[in-house]
Amino acid sequence: MSQAKEPGYKELAIGGKILEAGNSEQYETGGWRTFRPVHDAEKCIHCLLCWILCPDGAIIVKDGKWAGFDLKHCKGCGICAEECPPKVKAITMIKEEK
Ligand code: SF4
Ligand code: SF4
Repeated sequence: MSQAKEPGYKELAIGGKILEAGNSEQYETGGWRTFRPVHDAEKCIHCLLCWILCPDGAIIVKDGKWAGFDLKHCKGCGICAEECPPKVKAITMIKEEK
């Protein structure tokens, strides 16, 4: 049985290029998510550790306070939930389909 020939590296599109400043915003990494963060406003002390540590800049802050998740870019890594102070634990991760 014969298999279709895979393209060689010279035929592949060149990837990993930054074509303009800030173009990472165009990549909607939210599509990678299998878990998503849920915030408990009653527990949150607005320390903003989650904002500092989120690798995708997906924590929205308004007037110096936690204001939401940017779910277009949140990839569901869970760092915010892990790093929210242990005595607070205002963020939990739930399965995306819930
Ligand atoms: S780390 Fe936790 S307590 Fe701090 S702002 Fe984020 S959700 Fe609120
Ligand atoms: S789950 Fe990850 S990407 Fe999403 S808001 Fe938390 S730290 Fe950011």
